[in-house]
Amino acid sequence: MMRILEDREKRFLRILKLNEEYKLPVICGKINYPGNDKNTLKAGLAFNVLYSLLKDTFKDHEVYSETNEGFDGKSLLMVLNVPPKEAKKKAINIEEFHQLGRLFDIDIYVNGQPISRRDLGLNVRKCIVCGDDAGICTRQKRHDLREVIEIIDKIIDDYFGALSYDDINWMIKRFYEKEDENC
Ligand SMILES: [Zn+2]
Repeated sequence: MMRILEDREKRFLRILKLNEEYKLPVICGKINYPGNDKNTLKAGLAFNVLYSLLKDTFKDHEVYSETNEGFDGKSLLMVLNVPPKEAKKKAINIEEFHQLGRLFDIDIYVNGQPISRRDLGLNVRKCIVCGDDAGICTRQKRHDLREVIEIIDKIIDDYFGALSYDDINWMIKRFYEKEDENC
C-alpha cells in the first residue's frame, strides 16, 4: 500500500515538472483498478486500449509523451498544446462513452492542478457498483473490494470477448510498437 502511494506521489511530481517545463497542460491516463495489485493482466489489457485512444484522440496536439509503470499501475503522460478545458471535455467523452470508459482515469493538469468535472459544470463520476458519487463510495469504502474487482474484470472480459481476431492482433501490434519506442 505504501509503495502504491509513493508511486502516486512520484507521478504527481513528474506531472508538476512537465507542467513547469513546457508551460502546457499535461494529460494523465491510467486505469482505475482497485486493490493492492494494480498490474494484473486485465488491468494491462485495459491500459493498452486507453493508451491507443489517448494517442489517437490527441495526435494533433501531442508535444511530448511518456509511459510509466509502478505499483500504482501503468500511466501515460502527454504534454498537449490544447486548451485544457477542451482536453478535459474529450477525456470525459472517452470516460463516459467508451465501453471501458468507467475504468479509465483521465486527468488534465494545469500548474499541478487537475481540471475537475465541476469546472466544466458537469456531474461527478458515478460509482461502478451503486451509481452514487464515486468519491464518497471510495472514501467510505462502501463496497467489498472483491465485488468491485469482479465487476471491473467482467467489463474487461466482455470488451475483449466481443473483439474480433483482427482487432486483438492490431492491439498487440500497437503494444509492441510502443515497447520499441521505449527502448
Ligand atoms: Zn457505490
